[in-house]
Amino acid sequence: MCTAADIHAWCFDHGRAHTFKGGKEPWCGAAWVTFAATSTEEALAAKQAAYGDAQFFDQLSATDQLDIIEIRSTRPEAPAPQQT
Ligand SMILES: [Zn+2]
Repeated sequence: MCTAADIHAWCFDHGRAHTFKGGKEPWCGAAWVTFAATSTEEALAAKQAAYGDAQFFDQLSATDQLDIIEIRSTRPEAPAPQQT
């Protein structure tokens, strides 16, 4: 088997975990961070360890908000939403 691993992330915009299928473009272009996790449960635990109970962006400390803006700026922009 040589399939790309799924990506497990926490999205501070939607306030929930996201799973992006391996090898596919992430379908969410908001403020999410990925974790070195192999399951949603692991990602949740990693999120808890790193950011505590914060679920949404405005619940984060200023430092963590900057962190996430930084992380977000390092990845390519998601495709723009369709303007129709
Ligand atoms: Zn999202």
